Amino acid sequence: MRVARRVETLPPYLFAELDRKIAQRRAQGSDIISLGVGDPDSPTPGHVVEAAREAALDPSTHRYPSYYGMPELRRAIADWFGRRFGVELDPDTEVLPLLGSKEGLAHLAVAFVDPGDEALVPDPGYPVYEIATMLAGGTAVPLPLEADRRFLPDFGAAAGAVSDRTKLVWLNYPSNPTAAVADLSTFEDAVGFAREHDLLLAHDAAYSEITFDGYVAPSILQVPGARDVALEFHSLSKGFNMTGWRIGFCVGSADAVRALATLKTNLDSGIWNAVQRAAIAALSGPMDHLDALRALYQKRRDVVVGTLNRMGWDLDPPLGSIYVWVPTPGGQPSAAFADMLLDRAGVVVAPGRGYGAGGEGYVRISLTVPDEQLAVAMDRIAEAVER
Ligand SMILES: *Cc1c(COP(=O)(O)O)cnc(C)c1O
Repeated sequence: MRVARRVETLPPYLFAELDRKIAQRRAQGSDIISLGVGDPDSPTPGHVVEAAREAALDPSTHRYPSYYGMPELRRAIADWFGRRFGVELDPDTEVLPLLGSKEGLAHLAVAFVDPGDEALVPDPGYPVYEIATMLAGGTAVPLPLEADRRFLPDFGAAAGAVSDRTKLVWLNYPSNPTAAVADLSTFEDAVGFAREHDLLLAHDAAYSEITFDGYVAPSILQVPGARDVALEFHSLSKGFNMTGWRIGFCVGSADAVRALATLKTNLDSGIWNAVQRAAIAALSGPMDHLDALRALYQKRRDVVVGTLNRMGWDLDPPLGSIYVWVPTPGGQPSAAFADMLLDRAGVVVAPGRGYGAGGEGYVRISLTVPDEQLAVAMDRIAEAVER
């Protein structure tokens, strides 16, 4: 049999590769601590699990869900968005539930990119934007994010990368992998850029609720007129410790929502209604778990940044996400430094090159392992680097 070229030419998904390496070392008996993948180690809040349990016992949830998500969920999303960001959304036209935001991000490319079209993707950035553009037959054009601009885009320079085939520009703040945050003025520039070049502006806000030191992440839809050009992706994965449940949503441009929904009705048959009811409980219920979660990650962030800065790094503690983005010593290649840490410290970190050419010279450390393990991992890293 012959697999399609679009699949054969795909690079292996970074974390599938890392998983393989970890499994191999563990099989050899090594004690490996993985700071590679960002998967919250805290449980989903109890009232959310309880809502799902009750819903699972209700046979009406055993049938096909509605294609566009339950009206009650779209209403709960719009209400949460209004409370959180002060932006009113029409739950019928400006809100679309997703099978996790990764599903929607990937399918957005299919909905907007024709073969030969281009999309501007953050470099370094979450790999899905680039891969999905390629799967749709398009070309991902890097939007360089540099340390001396605090990993924020230079839209003046980016204008030179726009062609008449450019359809989409992607952003992601708080950022995976750089942990950079953006304020509203960056989003104002982004909306102006998208409007000027007639692009869809897709903002991935998966980490909007995971912020530190009192920083509050804005929504791109807080920019006046943004809903004409922007679609923002949110996820329950990080803010509610629900990565396993597969639920997220996008909000904004009614045209983009309609295009993505049209595609999705032909591909999937919606989200299990029990999971949708859990999401309603999450978005409508108490949010006190968030303070505890932010405090937990902030403490871990301080352990990682503190250890590295005592060894001679000069890192500013990041204000959001669940990562610390670390330049390699002496600018050595990210894969070489990551391999050294695996060999000498038994610690897995994500090599920055996996996030684009602009990630070279960095590794990403994830904060989603229990405190004691993180402390051990950082001690071992310190020892390995000093050797
Ligand atoms: C974790 C993450 C998501 C969330 O993905 P889900 O499919 O909702 O679990 C989206 N974007 C980025 C950049 C992420 O790191």
